[in-house]
Amino acid sequence: MKKNSLGRRKFLGLSAIATATAMGGTTFTLSSCSKEDDLKANPYETEALVIGSGFGGSVAALRLGEAGIKTTMLEMGKFYDSTVSNKAFSPAFFPDTRATWLKTGTFEMPLGPDFPLSGNKFVGVLDRNKASANGDMDIYRGTCLGGGSVVYGGMLPKPRVELWSKHFPDIEYSEMEAKWYPKVHSMIDISTVPENILNSEFYQYSRVGLEHCENAGMEKVMLPCGFDFGIVNEELSGQISKSVLNSEMIFGVNSGCKNSLDKNYIPAAIGTGNVTVETLHRVESVRKLSDKYAVEVAQIDESGNAIKYKTYTCKYLFVNAGVVGTMNILLKAKYDGGLANLNEHVGQAWGNNGNTMAMRSNLNDDTGGKQGAIPVSGYGDLNNPIAPLLAEQAPFPLGLELKSLLMLAIVDNPERGYWQYNPQKQKAELIWNKEQHQLSIDAMKNFVARLNAANGGEINTLLVKNNGYTSNFTYHPLGGAVRNLASDAYGRLHGYDNLYCIDGSMMPGFSCCANPALTIAALAERSMEKIIAEDF
Ligand code: FAD
Repeated sequence: MKKNSLGRRKFLGLSAIATATAMGGTTFTLSSCSKEDDLKANPYETEALVIGSGFGGSVAALRLGEAGIKTTMLEMGKFYDSTVSNKAFSPAFFPDTRATWLKTGTFEMPLGPDFPLSGNKFVGVLDRNKASANGDMDIYRGTCLGGGSVVYGGMLPKPRVELWSKHFPDIEYSEMEAKWYPKVHSMIDISTVPENILNSEFYQYSRVGLEHCENAGMEKVMLPCGFDFGIVNEELSGQISKSVLNSEMIFGVNSGCKNSLDKNYIPAAIGTGNVTVETLHRVESVRKLSDKYAVEVAQIDESGNAIKYKTYTCKYLFVNAGVVGTMNILLKAKYDGGLANLNEHVGQAWGNNGNTMAMRSNLNDDTGGKQGAIPVSGYGDLNNPIAPLLAEQAPFPLGLELKSLLMLAIVDNPERGYWQYNPQKQKAELIWNKEQHQLSIDAMKNFVARLNAANGGEINTLLVKNNGYTSNFTYHPLGGAVRNLASDAYGRLHGYDNLYCIDGSMMPGFSCCANPALTIAALAERSMEKIIAEDF
C-alpha cells in the first residue's frame, strides 16, 4: 500500500518534471499547487523552505510534502535530464562547460593534468571549490538538481559497526540498521555488481584488486552501488551507447543508470502536490524576522548571471546546501546579524573523511585498458596499524593498459578544521593545513606497502602529486554544523526555533570508513521523523 502510493507520487513528480523541462521551465511542481500559489498575495511565501537539493535537502522535501506541509525547495543549479538520446551531460573526455560550475578554460582534475574545457561559462554539474584560504584543501561538490548524487560514484556502503559508537555515541547502530538505512534503500535502489559485469573486460581492474587484497590478507569488500545495473547491461550488450562503460561518472552519466536523487526522492516530493522545486535559484542571505525567516534569492540564467531578485519568507527553514553552501549561508548570516544567535560551534569540527588517493603502478598484472567507471569493490583494512582504513578500487579509465590500480581511501583521522567568514572576500573559508592530513597519508603508505609486498608494484609519483599520496582535495566534506554541537541530535540549530541543518554539515567529520551519502540520508530521515512529529 505504502509502496504503491510512493510509486504514484514518483510517477506524478517525474511527469511534472518532464513537462516543465520540455517547456524550458525551471520550476517543478504539480499544476494544482502552482495555481494556488499564483493566487497568493506573496507567491514567495511558503510554510517550509529547503535550501539545496542534495541528500539532506531531498529527504527533507519529501517528508515535508508527505506531511502536507507547503514547501519550496531552492536549488542554485540546473536540472539535467539524463537520457541516452539527448546526452544532457558533458562527455567525460574533451568536456565542455556543462561539466563544471561557472568555469571556463581548464578544470583541475583530481589526478593528472588539468582538462581543457570548451564552451562559455555555464551552470555545470561539478565544482572544485577553493575552500581553504591557504590552498591546502579544495572541495569537490555537485552543483545541480540532486546535488552530489549526480556527480558521485554511487558507492553507498554502511559505516563500519566497529567504529560507529566512537563517532555517533548517542545512536545505537542497531537502530540505523533496523530503520533508517532500510528507509533510504526503499527510495534509492542499491545493489552490488552482478557477476557478468564483474567478469567482463571492463572490470579486470576490480578483479585484480580483489586478488591483491586477498593476497595481502585484507578484507575483500563488494560495494553497494546506487546504480541500475540493468541499464549497465544494455551498455555492455551494445543495446545503448556506452556511458559508464565509457568513463562517464563525475560529470554526470548520460545512460541514466545512476539512481540520482532527481529520479527518486525529488519526483516523489513533487508528486505529493505540496512541494515546488525552483532550480537556478541561488540563496544569497538569510535573516530571522520576528515570526519567520526571510531568504534573499537571486534567480540566475544558465551563465550564472542574476536575472531577478526575490525575497522568500517561511516559518520553517532547512539550510541543506551541502557543507560549502551551508557554511557560506550560516556564517554570513551569523556575521551580518541575520542569524546572530547561532552558537560558537557553527563552523567548527570539519573533517575530510580522511580522503587520500594513491596509485600502484608497474604491477605484474594487466589491469585493463577499458575500465567501467562505477567503483564496485574495495579493501577493508580496519586493523591498519596507523589508523582504520577502507579503500575503494577506483577506475582510471584512460583506454590504455597502464598495469596500475588507483585507490581512494577513507581513513579515521581525528584532525578537524574549521570555517570562518571572511568579510573582505565575502565568503566562508576553511582553515585547514596539510600537516593535518599526514596521519591519513601514513595509514595509506602502510596499506600500499603491504599490498606491494604481497603482489609487487610501486607507488606512482608521476600521476599523483605530493610523492604519490594526495592530500589537497576531498570528495567528502563533513561537519561545520555538527549534530549535538551546533544543533540538537536532530539538526535543530541552537539559538533559533524552526531552523534546521540536516545535510553533510551535521556529520562529525567522519563517516566510519564508509562513503557518507547513505548515512547523511539516513540521519536526515531520522531527523525528519522527529521534527515533523514534534515541531509542526
Ligand atoms: P549536496 O549533495 O552537496 O547538495 C547540496 C546542494 O545545495 C547542491 O545541489 C548545491 O548546488 C546546492 N546549493 C549550494 N549552495 C546553494 C545556495 N546558496 N542556494 C541554493 N542552492 C545551493 N558520497 C558517497 O556516499 N558515495 C560516493 O560514491 C561519492 N562519490 C563522490 C564523488 C564526487 C566527485 C563528489 C563531488 C562527491 C562524492 N560523494 C560520494 C560525496 C557526496 O556526494 C556528498 O557527501 C553528498 O552529496 C552530500 O550531501 P548534502 O546533502 O550534504 O549536499
